[in-house]
Amino acid sequence: MEPADHRVDVAVELPKHGGLADLLSYTHPAAVEPGRLVQVPLGKRLVRAVAWDASPPEPHGMALRAVASVAQSVPPLSPAWRRLVAFAAAYYQRSLGELALSALPPRLRQLDDTQLARLTTKLAAARAASATKAAASAATGTTNTADAPPEFQAEASPTLTSEQHHAVQAILAHGGATLLFGATGSGKTEVYLQAAQAVLDRGRQVLVLVPEINLTPQLESRLAARFAAHGLTTLHSALTPAQRLKHWMAAHLGHARVVLGTRLAVFASMPELGLIVVDEEHDPSFKQQEGARYSARDLAVYRGQSESLPVVLGSATPSLESWRRAQEGRYQRVDMPERVGGARWPKVRLLDMNKIPREVQRQHALAPPLMDALRACRARGEQSLVLLNRRGYAPVLHCKSCAWKSDCPHCSAWRVFHKIDRSLRCHHCGLATRVPKACPSCGDMDIEPMGRGTQKLEEQLTLALPGARIKRIDADSVRGKGALESSLSAVHEGDVDVLVGTQMVAKGHDFRRMGLVAVIDADGSLFTSDFRAPERLFALLMQAAGRAGRDATLDAARDEASELWVQTWHPTHPVFEALKAHDFEAFAATQLAQRQLAGLPPWTSLALLRADAKSADVAEAFLQAASQAALGLPECEGVTIYPAVPLHVSKVADVERMQMLVESPSRIALQRLLAAWHAPLQALRGQHKGLLRFALDVDPLQI
Ligand code: ADP
Ligand code: ZN
Ligand code: ZN
Repeated sequence: MEPADHRVDVAVELPKHGGLADLLSYTHPAAVEPGRLVQVPLGKRLVRAVAWDASPPEPHGMALRAVASVAQSVPPLSPAWRRLVAFAAAYYQRSLGELALSALPPRLRQLDDTQLARLTTKLAAARAASATKAAASAATGTTNTADAPPEFQAEASPTLTSEQHHAVQAILAHGGATLLFGATGSGKTEVYLQAAQAVLDRGRQVLVLVPEINLTPQLESRLAARFAAHGLTTLHSALTPAQRLKHWMAAHLGHARVVLGTRLAVFASMPELGLIVVDEEHDPSFKQQEGARYSARDLAVYRGQSESLPVVLGSATPSLESWRRAQEGRYQRVDMPERVGGARWPKVRLLDMNKIPREVQRQHALAPPLMDALRACRARGEQSLVLLNRRGYAPVLHCKSCAWKSDCPHCSAWRVFHKIDRSLRCHHCGLATRVPKACPSCGDMDIEPMGRGTQKLEEQLTLALPGARIKRIDADSVRGKGALESSLSAVHEGDVDVLVGTQMVAKGHDFRRMGLVAVIDADGSLFTSDFRAPERLFALLMQAAGRAGRDATLDAARDEASELWVQTWHPTHPVFEALKAHDFEAFAATQLAQRQLAGLPPWTSLALLRADAKSADVAEAFLQAASQAALGLPECEGVTIYPAVPLHVSKVADVERMQMLVESPSRIALQRLLAAWHAPLQALRGQHKGLLRFALDVDPLQI
């Protein structure tokens, strides 16, 4: 280091197994502002890095290498952005460099500083051109929005109901997190939009997070209709790398005032951020399931606190974590129990499947009373929706003579029968083979599908309802580009009588003419080891209910409210009681009481240590050693470590997966142990031959 040189600490992604070594030091002839994008040499490569706030100097004799270049064309990432990234790295036990770089668009890492300069010049020119055009059209008397394509014509906002108005005021006045507890159809989206409008009017940016963008095309078009003139952009994983960079840069440069995105957008750089909306805050999609396993909802709340700005968490069925925080007064709660326009809640009918003869169950997906209701609904010219959360034709094929079943050779799971192309497909590892003509085990020709998926449901309904227009929407039917949009618009246009689908169609869609919603095989998940199963099922059923009778005129046309039918083998389960009473609060109260007794979240904090290995023995041995190492640490005080157990699907693609639960009533105690555990875990890695990887999942959603 020349005496005149400045030391520059940077966050950079180190090769795997690099440990948590947080920042690397380089030199540069001039000082480099923290937050600047730079390129630095790492080994033989030149890599993207972010200049970071200086860490205390480390005394080492090695000569520091020089920063290769500084991207002067891109404004630095703000201190608030760096705080968010540093917090996420520490909380989710990842290296700062990994988190910082993965929070940036992948293309940003690939382009060099000259290419970045070219991009920012291009974006600035495009913006200047559109501003000139707007000014010109203003001069000739035409407005900016009138000049926009018809779909971007600014939409007038409706007058808020007093409930909505109060919600908007409360959100903006609070300055912290608000839990907007509002029934489906109560007008939450309208509240988000008008709160956003107020924030935009003050010259600030707005971030809207949704679970899955292609499942909510209506929200995107409503945002576009309202805010096109402000600059709306999207951030999600379905964008091409070039689009993602462009959209990210638009937010970072402040050109885009509204960003709509999925979980990864929580890291969007928005220098003038004024409001964060998290729609359907209970949705598990907000949790990243690999790499840094962050919760975008929780990070949104952190970001709000750190930047002193309002955050809205909206849901008809809040997560029990958020519900509890509202009870503790850490979140403000605003309730909107009424549906806009006075549409009534569907009447809930539980169908006790224990009373339906087996033979009838096998032949008919829908029990006779439900089938009658469906026919009546059709006769009135209404639409109906049948939900079955299992795609494919049948979950398994079996041989009647030798009991062979279509298991996957690489996973502890069945291969699913897809009749359309006569394939057997493993939904875990993707293995697809043709259906065998005869039993691979005994040669008998008598192999049969067992159980029912959406394809079979569609087939049975087609037979039972001659002439009805039936449409299936699931992950298989919407593979092609635009397939989901066109299927959904067919439903909206009224070209579909009966919509069959997985939970994909239960979310968010504003269907107007659904007189009946039926949920088949609802309780499959209730008795798994996952303590969140009832919470998930309740949310799904409430969401399904929300698809019915959204239009008061539909109710008026018939004598009674729309219907939600649920076929269940456990009609007395509290989930269904709460559903019938339409009472989330009662449901939450019983669930919270049970969780408190069992010492589960939100009363305790959890982390999972997961291990993937070539054999279950290796995975288990590693976890046991890890457990011993933790117990030897003073930080283990107040933390409980449970024995290692296999995952629900223990083998996937020939990898054995095990996990170990770590629990503490104190989040801080748990965090302290996790931080102290890091070094011993890294050290153990090399001692277990056959261990493929391990990962910590902090606040895991799937147990
Ligand atoms: P949620 O997001 O809670 O499901 P939405 O905001 O989508 O509810 O509102 C449900 C329906 O009511 C939508 O069609 C919406 O356009 C309409 N709506 C919402 N608020 C109002 C209002 N204040 N006046 C008139 N219509 C409204
Ligand atoms: Zn056989
Ligand atoms: Zn498989």
